[in-house]
Amino acid sequence: MSNYEFVDPQKLVHRAIGQLKKASAEVSPERREEIEQTIKQAEEMLAIARSKGAKEMGFRIHDCKYPAPLMLWDERRQAHICEHCGHTRQKPVAVRVRPGTWPRSRGGGDGTGWMGN
Ligand SMILES: [Zn+2]
Repeated sequence: MSNYEFVDPQKLVHRAIGQLKKASAEVSPERREEIEQTIKQAEEMLAIARSKGAKEMGFRIHDCKYPAPLMLWDERRQAHICEHCGHTRQKPVAVRVRPGTWPRSRGGGDGTGWMGN
């Protein structure tokens, strides 16, 4: 297991981008703009890959921007917080189907439904 295993994916991405930017600084000024453009594209790809991967792993994502940032669990606030805009989503309360709602929504055959009377 590599040490990277314990690093936040976002930090890994930043680190990778940082390396690329460092490398681009070595490039001659004429070519730098082109390289920086490439890095920008790579950055976007990584962000999309991260967002997709996170979604597949069951993470919550927020659609406030593209690629979608993650909604990360905040133990202290007991809520999912969007890492980009700070949007908070409280822990969902278990939804229970109220007795009575279900048979009626099926059109009711017991005389009390919409066909009743
Ligand atoms: Zn957001």
